[in-house]
Amino acid sequence: MENLVKFEHPLFIIDMMYARKNNMTGRAVYEEIGYGNNAYMHKDTAAALLQIVPILREKNLKMRICDAYRPPLAHQKMLEIIPFKGFFAATPERSNHCHGTAVDVCLTDANGNNLPYPTEVDAYEPRFQQQVCAGDFSEFQNHLKKARQDYSEAAAEALENRAFLRLLMESCGFEAIQHEWWHYNLSGWQKYPVIDWK
Ligand SMILES: [Zn+2]
Repeated sequence: MENLVKFEHPLFIIDMMYARKNNMTGRAVYEEIGYGNNAYMHKDTAAALLQIVPILREKNLKMRICDAYRPPLAHQKMLEIIPFKGFFAATPERSNHCHGTAVDVCLTDANGNNLPYPTEVDAYEPRFQQQVCAGDFSEFQNHLKKARQDYSEAAAEALENRAFLRLLMESCGFEAIQHEWWHYNLSGWQKYPVIDWK
């Protein structure tokens, strides 16, 4: 974990969703493995993210980080809790979070209230857990359409916020993915290996 740094900055709110119970797994997996509510990431990812600071200052905004580096052990646990294809990457190798090169983020106002977006930062909301674990994916799959970058039926303000976040992240060295508006990969992520946690 020599390339991992603990990301901390007054304009960033560290709110790791797997360090608390209200996520799709229903468990505080990051607490269980001793990782806690910390946003570690590859030092190159941290350097890119810090480029956002002047824009946050100028716009009087903050950024909420809901996931960053994910220890492979945590990822394995998550796969055990939700053993369905299409939820979490099939192996830690396939999740950029385990490489320290992905962040799940949104912008907030100066008081830390999330700006409106088409869904919560993580559309894999706890309310879907029961249905999904009972094998009923219909409502959940429908909801996931709203997480896509090309979903256009949300309120104009939500779409504008999603577009601004993307502009901001792409201008600071990140790449968007099509199916999760909150997830960003560091450009060049392909060359970074999985990082083990302690
Ligand atoms: Zn993510």
